[in-house]
Amino acid sequence: MDYTAAFTSAVARVRAEGRYRVFANLLRRKGEFPRARWRTPDGDTRDVTVWCSNDYLGMGQSACVTESMKKAIDEVGAGAGGTRNISGTTNYHVELERSLADLHGKEAALLFTSGYISNEATIATLGKILPNLIIYSDALNHASMIEGVRGAKCEKHVWRHNDVAHLEELLKAAPKDAPKLIAFESVYSMDGDIGPIKAVCDLADKYGAMTYLDEVHAVGLYGLRGGGISEREGLADRLTIIEGTLGKAYGVMGGYIAADAVIVDAIRSWAPGFIFTTSLAPALAAGARASVEYLKSDHALREKHQERAATLKAKLADAGLPVMDTPTHIVPVKVGDPVLCKRLSDALLEEHGIYVQPINYPTVPRGTERLRFTPSPLHTDAMMDELVDALRAVYQRYSNVRVA
Ligand code: PMP
Repeated sequence: MDYTAAFTSAVARVRAEGRYRVFANLLRRKGEFPRARWRTPDGDTRDVTVWCSNDYLGMGQSACVTESMKKAIDEVGAGAGGTRNISGTTNYHVELERSLADLHGKEAALLFTSGYISNEATIATLGKILPNLIIYSDALNHASMIEGVRGAKCEKHVWRHNDVAHLEELLKAAPKDAPKLIAFESVYSMDGDIGPIKAVCDLADKYGAMTYLDEVHAVGLYGLRGGGISEREGLADRLTIIEGTLGKAYGVMGGYIAADAVIVDAIRSWAPGFIFTTSLAPALAAGARASVEYLKSDHALREKHQERAATLKAKLADAGLPVMDTPTHIVPVKVGDPVLCKRLSDALLEEHGIYVQPINYPTVPRGTERLRFTPSPLHTDAMMDELVDALRAVYQRYSNVRVA
């Protein structure tokens, strides 16, 4: 076997499809977000505005978070030093889990090292704990949930995105007393649309199913205390498991689930992705807790974020750019071709100092490639105007899209 040839051809396939990934090397300085410097491939540095960060509110730069992380490092050092079971549980972890349970009005919460792992480990483990489980997964669920469903090794059905009639058809066909899990998201990160939480909860009640809601792109951002769309819609208590991340609106790192104590206890006891790994660094837990607690009270920051997103959408639409109309803070602009998407992104970065990563397959289905902008409360009107002008210029140059 020529291993080198196999790997070379795997990379060549990705290149041929125009979706070879190049990571922009950003030199960041605290307090400057969303401005940064980009280290070009030939070693120069250029000032850029970052338009694709998931640190949606800039909390990763806020003193309340960074100071609590520094304090924790000074108190307990760098790493957790073990798995949760073997010396890796500190009071920072315990307090953060309490804070997260309180955020969602649940009895308990459980930390994981990322949102990805929380989805993958929890869903796969539910398949092991519940014999004959049937999982119903929304067609646009995140890769981490899809991997969890695979790992659950049980019967599964994919329901058409946000189509509750299709979901009901599938539920109806299953044995009445079989254990069932409906897995879906609140804010879909690439299209910026919202899952039908109430309708799913109604179906779950009718067919005796559990519900699993990924609120990764909503926690910190929606609801009066940042509890997500489920808080905003008053539905948190109807959901069996709410999953979230500490790496996006909270600006740090880590993932979690919140649920009844007995469910958390079972996952804690059974999930390899929780059990057999070093726990989050205590400083990350300290920073995340500071962020979660801070955002329970600063609703004005959430409102400002929504206002910024609405303003950017309006400016893009006024300029005749193909912005997708979303009910959330996510601002996708359609491109529909991976090569063009990369070309637009490169031109924005190299010629205009605007950094937005192209979003190509497999992150989104082929033919729906896009640029995904994530305005924060720190993006000014002037930055938005600069973005709109630059985008209009590169669109006109590289695509056939007619721009007003
Ligand atoms: N769920 C969704 C919907 C996501 O978009 C992501 C990350 N892109 C995750 C889970 C994983 O979260 P994390 O980045 O904390 O691993």
